[in-house]
Amino acid sequence: MHQLFAIFLFFMCFKFVFEFILEKLNQSSYENKEEQKKVCHKLGIDKTDFQKTLAYTRDKSAFGNLSSLINLGLLLGFIYLGGFSLLESFAVNFSGKYSHTLFLNEQIIEGLFFFFLFFVLSTLVSIPFSYYFTFFLEEKHGFNKQSPASFFSDLIKSSLLGIILGGVLISLLLKAMTLGSLWWFFAWALLSLFTLLTSWIYPSVLAPLFNKFSPIEDEKLKKGIFDLAEKVDFKTSGIFIMDASTRSTHGNAYFTGVFGEKRIVLFDTLIKNLNSNQLVAVLAHELGHFKLKHVRYALIRSLLMSLALFYVLSLCLPMEDFYTAFGFSKVSNYAGLVVFSMWFSFVNFVISPFMSFLSRQNEFEADAFAVNVTGNEKDLGEALINLSKSNHSMPIAHPLYSLVHYSHPPLLERLEAIKFSL
Ligand SMILES: [Zn+2]
Repeated sequence: MHQLFAIFLFFMCFKFVFEFILEKLNQSSYENKEEQKKVCHKLGIDKTDFQKTLAYTRDKSAFGNLSSLINLGLLLGFIYLGGFSLLESFAVNFSGKYSHTLFLNEQIIEGLFFFFLFFVLSTLVSIPFSYYFTFFLEEKHGFNKQSPASFFSDLIKSSLLGIILGGVLISLLLKAMTLGSLWWFFAWALLSLFTLLTSWIYPSVLAPLFNKFSPIEDEKLKKGIFDLAEKVDFKTSGIFIMDASTRSTHGNAYFTGVFGEKRIVLFDTLIKNLNSNQLVAVLAHELGHFKLKHVRYALIRSLLMSLALFYVLSLCLPMEDFYTAFGFSKVSNYAGLVVFSMWFSFVNFVISPFMSFLSRQNEFEADAFAVNVTGNEKDLGEALINLSKSNHSMPIAHPLYSLVHYSHPPLLERLEAIKFSL
């Protein structure tokens, strides 16, 4: 076994064991009877409701552990048994045959075909997991509203979209990688432009491929929302209701878009669970993210991060070991991208607690913003509790678990922070 691959193997196993221990710690927290009693009392959750949440949490945790174990085994086995070198030889063959008919550089065709095969393979592997999750796990707990036909039509649509957008992006990146010693800067600039462009067309072009968006009809709610938008001086290109209920009963709201295309989207499932004052409070929270520039800073952070990553990639690219460790037979730009993305999962593991921390700070700030704008903590507090109940979200977490994984603070902490009590 190549030394570099042995290090990779060690990291991946370490990461798995770490996550597993964290999961067990968390389990011991929410299975604790005393803790359960205390939290249920504080949040006004009755015993039957809590039992439902507990059953859902247990099933999700078991599914998560098993699927990450299988995925880790498959990935490491695939690399160890020469999967990459097999895909590489298919790609070399394909490009040899077709590059003169496809009007593209041979290297780019080879890379595109390689990524296509890898994409098809990983999609095929992921289908049984997402099928089980939707039609067994979510179904069992009453959340699933999707039919197998719509599941597969979603899958086909998103795969085609992935192939088209991914194909364009990869061709651009592979082209940029041939542009001399500053290629990493050009590649970064292209990726940034591409990201901005796709987020710009996302609300009006991409999202409607999967869901229907309709304007709000409820007059009272509409007035509440427009008053709110005016109060915080927010210019939106529209507030829409999304037919999330065609897939699942989980409720949510989000804010989407860049430049002039700013949309607020409410899931129809959210509207079913909250009254109009609570909905306005949830929207005020979402607007808070925008007004406090969380959205902008997150974008800047991710741009800076990808700049650093491209620079590091440019240092790794000339090293032959970088490729041979993962079974590639030759140095190529596309193999460089693939191997780097493998190592990235470790980078991500290290930085994700910091990212979660920043995100939780933002959530507290957006909550405070919402309380300030709506003039009371009651609406937001009740909305958060209702949402947590209807989504069967577990309100108890081990501090270490929430520190690493939670992008949103635990419910009790959020309620305490806005000084809400039942
Ligand atoms: Zn938020």
